[in-house]
Amino acid sequence: MIAAIQFEPVRQPIYSFVIPLYNEEETLPELHRRLCELFDTLTGEVELILVDDGSRDRSLEILRSLHRQDPRVRYLSLARNFGHQIALSAGLQFASGKAAIVMDADLQDPPEVVPELIQKWQEGYQVVYGQRLSRNKEGVIKRLLAYSFYRVLRQLSDVNIPADTGDFCLMDRAVLQVLNQMPERNRYIRGLRAWVGFRQTAVHFHRPGRYAGDVKYTFRKSFRLAINSILGFSIVPLRTATYLGLFSAAFAGLMMALLLYWRIFQHSATAQRLEGFTLIAMAVFFLGAVQLICIGILGEYIGRIYEEVKGRPLYTLKEVEGFEAPVAAKLH
Ligand code: UDP
Ligand code: MG
Repeated sequence: MIAAIQFEPVRQPIYSFVIPLYNEEETLPELHRRLCELFDTLTGEVELILVDDGSRDRSLEILRSLHRQDPRVRYLSLARNFGHQIALSAGLQFASGKAAIVMDADLQDPPEVVPELIQKWQEGYQVVYGQRLSRNKEGVIKRLLAYSFYRVLRQLSDVNIPADTGDFCLMDRAVLQVLNQMPERNRYIRGLRAWVGFRQTAVHFHRPGRYAGDVKYTFRKSFRLAINSILGFSIVPLRTATYLGLFSAAFAGLMMALLLYWRIFQHSATAQRLEGFTLIAMAVFFLGAVQLICIGILGEYIGRIYEEVKGRPLYTLKEVEGFEAPVAAKLH
């Protein structure tokens, strides 16, 4: 007798925890321990998707051993360091839960806050983001830069991107689907998350210091993210070119009027000195600078258009473990 083939139904987890990491060997065991404590308090199935963003330390080995110990742990390993936002996008594409919870690997997004996020989700919010009330243990300069950046971005952007929010959030499957369909490469997930709309709310928390290791977001990476976010969500810099042009035209007009006035009505020493070479040199430098700024701004946008048009895949994977077959098909 042929036994009926039993297909185990693909179980959809309720919660997908998505955590990108880069060189976090020191924090991973503690992260897993703290998350396990959290998982014990949750009802419903959980998957933990750890995305190795091309780490050079033992992070990947630790992921392999965590996966062996704990079947809830699934991991992807990107073939090189693609950057936090791309690693996060990869993890979100593999998430199959009804809600995705995004966290940093360094325990700066406390697992203890997650039940509050879930509570809001159960109340019917589709995006629940963590908003920092304080940032302990971070340098004064970094805090000041972050503080001003979020406010400048809010001023410039057409989308209402809440200040002082990181990637720490819970997103409903509906939001995830929209996000996963967005093909853009220069991704600023916090902005895209605000852009999609749906019912959104904040949960406030105090941001602790890093559990271990150094900051992986170097100044260069943070700066690039800041530029990406502004260019991705605002055309104000492009408009600046027009304003600068108008301003310099007005300035030139004023100078011409002054010159004419001096020429016709006055013959003072100042007028003589201002005329001729000095004035021309000044005007040339001024206009040259304005033009260079405008070309630079255009260049920034054109550079991004070029990158989007190339349509390269967002990331390349070198290792994937623990996912069901249909999800693994994303490899091709
Ligand atoms: N990260 C990453 N790829 C990178 C840089 C950082 O996946 O190229 C991860 C890092 O491991 C951490 C998160 O992004 O989980 C936030 O990085 P970090 O703690 O260094 O930045 P900060 O807390 O200062 O925003
Ligand atoms: Mg951190």
